[in-house]
Amino acid sequence: MNHRQRFAALATLALIAAAPASHAALKVLACEPEWGALAKELGGDLVEVSVATTALQDPHQIQARPSLIARARSADLVACTGAELEVGWLPILLQQAGNAKIQPGQPGNFAAADFIRKLDVPTQVDRAQGDVHAAGNPHVQTDPRNIALAAAALGARLQLVDAAHAAQYAARQSDFHTRWTQALARWTQQAAPLRGTPVVSQHKAFVYLYDWLGLKEVAVLEPKPGVEPSAAHLQSVKAALAATPAKMVLYAAYQDARPSDWLTANAGVPAVKLPFTVGGTPAANDLFGLFDDTVARLLAAGKR
Ligand SMILES: [Zn+2]
Repeated sequence: MNHRQRFAALATLALIAAAPASHAALKVLACEPEWGALAKELGGDLVEVSVATTALQDPHQIQARPSLIARARSADLVACTGAELEVGWLPILLQQAGNAKIQPGQPGNFAAADFIRKLDVPTQVDRAQGDVHAAGNPHVQTDPRNIALAAAALGARLQLVDAAHAAQYAARQSDFHTRWTQALARWTQQAAPLRGTPVVSQHKAFVYLYDWLGLKEVAVLEPKPGVEPSAAHLQSVKAALAATPAKMVLYAAYQDARPSDWLTANAGVPAVKLPFTVGGTPAANDLFGLFDDTVARLLAAGKR
């Protein structure tokens, strides 16, 4: 190797070494799969997304384990639901991580529910008897109109925390908005026959979905959000359904289906599993699949 070749080789090596640093992706830690999926839609290759929970875990009940704390330590942005969904674990996670960028009030701390009108907000805050929805219903991701609101807010936040790539985030946001608006119109039209359908919920997981599609919740299997139904409570629901029949009982993919299955066996109400978030069912492989599959499952149950 002569002098010039050696210099060229060294220069190439230097370029390779420098490349990852100059394109360092923004590290996003999403609390739930839907916000991880949204960050990927809006950030593409500009973001490196990691998700704290899977669709098969109850987001109310997560442990702030060391591997999660390590991810929070290096995150540039946390994207969560808020509305106290993560109250049992996120504050501990943020405190243990000791990362100033993602603390509450910082641009690196994003809570989707801050940008969405919450339903089931109690007039009096009461956490008695284990109510896990004391700050209003946190399951905002079950209405695609809320995903649109969260997308606008998260897109703006990405532009703020990674200003060097603001134009690219803005372009991706606009593209997502176009595709989402088209899909939303399609889902709304497909689901129109479901309007007014009486349903039972296992957990109050779908109030935003009902609000969007006009489904009527006539009973809930959990006596309070987060409290497992007793045999006596299930019997009282069954008795109430004799007067007000329901077409289906809905449960989220992460939940133990036994209370819903009990209602199927004892009151003849078919149980329907909904993905609830990205990854909850094989077809719910991204945000679009989440609502394609949710609407398809509801329509299939509605025809029975
Ligand atoms: Zn809940």
